[in-house]
Amino acid sequence: MVFELPPLPYAYDSLEPWIDKETMIIHHDKHHKAYVDNLNKALIGHEELQGEIEWLLKNLDSISSQIRTQVKNHGGGHWNHSFFWACLKKNTKPSGELLRAIVRDFGGYEGFIIQFKQNAVSHFGSGWAWLALDPRTKKLEIMQTHDQESPISLGKIPLLVIDVWEHAYYLKYQNRRIDYVEAFPNVINWEQVEKNYLNAIR
Ligand code: MN
Repeated sequence: MVFELPPLPYAYDSLEPWIDKETMIIHHDKHHKAYVDNLNKALIGHEELQGEIEWLLKNLDSISSQIRTQVKNHGGGHWNHSFFWACLKKNTKPSGELLRAIVRDFGGYEGFIIQFKQNAVSHFGSGWAWLALDPRTKKLEIMQTHDQESPISLGKIPLLVIDVWEHAYYLKYQNRRIDYVEAFPNVINWEQVEKNYLNAIR
């Protein structure tokens, strides 16, 4: 089966005023869709690779070198955006086991937010800034990926992400990535991040 664009799991204006409706429409309906369409195009003639996006990204080395870069870029774009939408919701707070891990690894919520924002602002060019779990140490870590690379290709388990491609903020914030990053903690879906964390440490 070919890959399909999943619907945005909430209304386009749900994240106002921090992320505007127009940005969400274009980001989801145009940018994310283009990754799905281009992934499907890349897999024409490679039907055996259709189906499991996570498998593709975790096994890039086993994919024909002719299409590996396209799968990394467009498949990563598809997976990263699907993950990103789920990370967004207003008015939630970290709690429980996740909050205890944040205190353990970052000194507390405020310490985490400072480091997360710093990581997002300092990323050079297009890419993503993540909170991830290293499955070997079971510790939280802040990391960046460039272009559409996904942490799942690097053996990490993503918990939270901010898209720092200009297309994620340009309509509302123009070139001011720092203002977008400052606003971002208002739309972190901590309920989802906690689910991701509990699945990761199981
Ligand atoms: Mn994006």
